[in-house]
Amino acid sequence: MLYLDHAATTVMRPEARDAMAPFLDGAFGNPSGLHAVSRRAKNAMEEARESAAWLLGADHPLEIVFTGGGTEADNLAVIGHALAGGGRGGVVTNAAEHDAVLRSADFVTRLGCALTVVGVDGHGLVDPEEYAAAVTSDTVVASVMLANNEVGTIQPVAAVAAAVRAANPDIAVHTDAVQAFVSEEVTVAATAADLIALSAHKFGGPKGVGLLRVPRGMDLEPVVHGGGQELGMRSGTHNVAGILGMVAAMQATVADREAFRSRVGGARDRFEEVLGSLVDGIEVNGPVDHRLVQHSHLRIQGVQSETLLIRLDQAGLAAAAGSACHSGAIEVSHVLAAMGFDEDRAAESVRFTFGWVNERKDGEDAARRVAAVVEQLR
Ligand code: PLP
Repeated sequence: MLYLDHAATTVMRPEARDAMAPFLDGAFGNPSGLHAVSRRAKNAMEEARESAAWLLGADHPLEIVFTGGGTEADNLAVIGHALAGGGRGGVVTNAAEHDAVLRSADFVTRLGCALTVVGVDGHGLVDPEEYAAAVTSDTVVASVMLANNEVGTIQPVAAVAAAVRAANPDIAVHTDAVQAFVSEEVTVAATAADLIALSAHKFGGPKGVGLLRVPRGMDLEPVVHGGGQELGMRSGTHNVAGILGMVAAMQATVADREAFRSRVGGARDRFEEVLGSLVDGIEVNGPVDHRLVQHSHLRIQGVQSETLLIRLDQAGLAAAAGSACHSGAIEVSHVLAAMGFDEDRAAESVRFTFGWVNERKDGEDAARRVAAVVEQLR
């Protein structure tokens, strides 16, 4: 199987597996306890927190709040900040965000918060000035993803942050960096964001673990209530092995990032080059020069993506249409709808996403397999 659905989830890095193993077995303690078994788990987890803070350029290890994944980190950022301190602050976001942000934003409107959802252009890009125009004195959080999970569009997060802060200096900027972390620099300085969400399984860590960077002094209303772990912001017994696996994958990802961009970006470019030479009627969706190096979201004219994906699966190639986070259901995605795609264009669009295991030769191999199936279907 040639797996080109790495944006849905990617292969676990060996560094993550190695870091997890001791904490699944011998060092199984609950880090909230006081005895030696607990202390071993706690010490390892706090070292991991330090590493994560350092990798993100955060000021203090306690700025890292471990969560049960990217969805939970986004919920905590948006809901937690909108409801912080008993308030009912307004939220501004955009129509191409992941549902983890959009549905959290929708949820807080039911509790009395105001919500403005700005649009995106035909490439999925937001306009910082539109964000700024939507901000009022009651707006407490502006959320803009670093890179889109479907088309791979890289958003001007730092420009949005500057624009919304000029409109309201007290605003918190949240960025969902879940898809971007693997290939883009994700630090507090580079993004200019206050809140940064990551998910381990998108960059070679295990599923069901993530983190939110929360600046010191910022209190968030918890979304998960209970024993008060993670400074009260995310209760629940820690997933120690998962956290260690995530941070080991973060380290490996950051060390490999530059090489990833040329190796995996090279595979993606070769894929588009060869496919374009073999098949007519291919269009790249999203901004060609301003998208993640691992993403190739294409319209293949005259070929229904649903049929194409089934035939590709039979031919040993895994790809995606829409977002796999919607439990595999194929429907016109809200992202493509926000980009102004009509049903025909959306139904002929398909997502190929490369990952850390891919080599340049995989691009050519994939292009030849896709071309053969397209020829049969046409
Ligand atoms: N945000 C983005 C941009 C994503 O692509 C995803 C997963 O597809 C998530 C959030 C949710 O992360 P998780 O799967 O860890 O809940």
